[in-house]
Amino acid sequence: MAKQAREAIGVETLSVVADRGYFKGEEILACYDANVTAYVPKPMTSSAKADGRFNKDAFVYDATRNEYTCPAGEALIWRFSSVEKGMNMHCYWSSKCQSCTLKSQCTPSTNRRVKRWEHEAVLEEMQRRLTRAPEMMKVRKRTVEHPFGTLKQWMGATHFLTRKLNGVSAEMSLNVLAYNMKRVMKIIGTEGLLKAMAA
Ligand code: SF4
Repeated sequence: MAKQAREAIGVETLSVVADRGYFKGEEILACYDANVTAYVPKPMTSSAKADGRFNKDAFVYDATRNEYTCPAGEALIWRFSSVEKGMNMHCYWSSKCQSCTLKSQCTPSTNRRVKRWEHEAVLEEMQRRLTRAPEMMKVRKRTVEHPFGTLKQWMGATHFLTRKLNGVSAEMSLNVLAYNMKRVMKIIGTEGLLKAMAA
């Protein structure tokens, strides 16, 4: 979508922002490879965090040593790599977990294992970008949520009148077309729109 948007707008560089439901490592990497700056927050699905244990972000990665440092200051060293859902993952753990005083806050297993995708650095850089620009999520909210609110509340499209993909897709396209026309008329006026369409 980002690539299509860049083509449609006719620009070289582009920043894209999406909510956490769209967080997918491979897609974010594809943006990076295409020179598109992505802003997508991580989903909050950590079971460790939900259980009150240390989240993965409590473990600090050192690229030069290729190891993590845990909240107890121990080194989690690289152990093995495996392919999970087509992604090359590296696995790290420390041998000190069993004698660690923080273990109950860390893991119910013998060792706390931390996994790292081979392109994790791209995700980490995006996280730093998001921290530096917290307003990006507000921009998303006020630009992306607004059309849906307008479609539902002002234009009365509160539910679909058709069924099945083809019907719903056509209905949604008509709603979006109507919204876009209303918006353009608001910005450049009806006359301006007619002129632009005739050009
Ligand atoms: S349990 Fe292991 S990984 Fe967790 S804090 Fe202790 S030493 Fe570090």
